[in-house]
Amino acid sequence: MPMTASKKIALLTTGGTIAMTDSGGGAKVSVSGGSLGDLIDGAVALEVTEVFAKPSPNMTLADMAVLAATAQAKLATVDGVVISHGTDTLEETAWCLELLLRTDTPVVLTGAMRAFGAEGADGATNLRAACRVAASSGARGLGVLAVLADDIHAAMLVRKVRTSGVDAFSSQPYGPLGSVVEDRVNLLLSPTRRPPQLRWGGRRCRTPIVYVYSGMEADELARYADGDIDALVLNLPGGGHMPAEAVDMLEALARRVPVVFAARTPGGETLSRTYGYAGGEMDLIDRGLIPSASLDALKARIATALLVSDGADRDRVAAFFAGFRGE
Ligand code: ASP
Repeated sequence: MPMTASKKIALLTTGGTIAMTDSGGGAKVSVSGGSLGDLIDGAVALEVTEVFAKPSPNMTLADMAVLAATAQAKLATVDGVVISHGTDTLEETAWCLELLLRTDTPVVLTGAMRAFGAEGADGATNLRAACRVAASSGARGLGVLAVLADDIHAAMLVRKVRTSGVDAFSSQPYGPLGSVVEDRVNLLLSPTRRPPQLRWGGRRCRTPIVYVYSGMEADELARYADGDIDALVLNLPGGGHMPAEAVDMLEALARRVPVVFAARTPGGETLSRTYGYAGGEMDLIDRGLIPSASLDALKARIATALLVSDGADRDRVAAFFAGFRGE
């Protein structure tokens, strides 16, 4: 669908490479929201709000809640919301917004792999494609989307898979919902369901991710088990498997705070009834650990931290993740 200036889009800018220039010493955020808006060149009626000006590794959960509230406040008066964001953590913010916002109005994240004004810069193309998607009726009701390199990804699936190159995002092992071709938004798939809506409750929710590897010793985990944390996400080999030496410690920790485990294999789900050895997923579940099902560790961490920020106990966290197992 061609864009028309009669469509009203709220552009929320947050920083990232799309807003960076390199005047020697490496790229830094320096481009105003207004200059990013100029890249759209009148193709839609744009209302620009600079929410942050950060490299995206600095985005906190509280920042994401501010972004969600800012988007929410715009939703009633626009056809769509576009959010420009650093690509490094774009998938975390997209998923957090998917959990916090409940709207049929398109909310579309985009960014750039090449800095503003750099050779082959992709920011303008991505922004224009994101506006096209945000203005399209086909994108209504699909949840939060990410549009990069002409692909339209669902927030639940998207992840960054390359550190350079403009084609850096994937929805493996499934695929994007569609793409932007010429001036058309061509959506071929839609998610079968939306996740339950969560709230940012503002309570402390320190939730580290521990990436577990072969032969990891229990002592290496002790700083977390004894530490000042509110929840833990383990990123585990295979379908959710832990060296046996650490399982007693994890069982004790799971009595104190929610301990969630995810599959570290990209695109992999946790299992629940396949491996019964000490440290296998059946053993971990028996010991009170919570499988994240189809959510990867980054997405599991965002959801767990939001739940804990809102005062959720272990059972509420477990009930949330059970919804991602299928029937
Ligand atoms: N490399 C990043 C980007 O593409 C920097 C960031 O995430 O802010 O935007």
